[in-house]
Amino acid sequence: MRLRHIQGAEETIASSPFVIQEPKQHRGTWNQVFGSSSPLEIEVGMGKGRFIMEKASANPDINYIGIERYSSVLLRGLQKRSEMDLENIYFMRIDAKDMAEIFAPGEVDRIYLNFSDPWPKDRHAKRRLTSPVFMSVYDKILAPRGVVEFKTDNRGLFEYSLESIPSAGWEITEHTFDLHNSTMAEGNVMTEYEMKFASEGKPICKLIARRTG
Ligand code: SAM
Repeated sequence: MRLRHIQGAEETIASSPFVIQEPKQHRGTWNQVFGSSSPLEIEVGMGKGRFIMEKASANPDINYIGIERYSSVLLRGLQKRSEMDLENIYFMRIDAKDMAEIFAPGEVDRIYLNFSDPWPKDRHAKRRLTSPVFMSVYDKILAPRGVVEFKTDNRGLFEYSLESIPSAGWEITEHTFDLHNSTMAEGNVMTEYEMKFASEGKPICKLIARRTG
């Protein structure tokens, strides 16, 4: 998702109390930012943020960070955020490839990848958020039994991920090709993209991967 440039987006983001402006400064001390040592969960590519804000609202004892690389998209999330009374969530406008400079080893408990861009051309495989390149970034910041949860409507990206994730040294503990009609559906929180695809009758794939190290 890359919305048209919105005038003033950068300024709004730079002055928002809900956005961490210099995230690298907090590496290793995220519990101080939140004022609690609760587990830390991150959504990479949060889009307009429905999923992560619903999670934060339902789980006050977990801290959440939503990551999005485009200002125009993050701005949409901020509009919704300002209507919600939440103390356990922040956003960042960064590229996920930089996460290891922002989080210390073991500082993150769970990473959500929801409807990530598929990058279908072979020559762009390294840009997929489930490629070994990105799995090694997650590996650097996740707690010893940390988990990655990945949902997509894109069968090709899902089949790629079923191979790329184990090849990066991870164990896939659960997966389904039809989330909404599976036992994995319990407690599922839908994203904006998921609601759209589900309304079109498209099956949603999901996997959960665990670090083995
Ligand atoms: N997760 C949302 C949902 O399911 O409704 C949005 C899905 S949208 C297809 C993917 C989002 O991930 C886009 O907003 C895109 O800008 C963001 N994104 C893709 N690659 C990223 C990266 N490397 N770092 C941060 N955000 C990224």
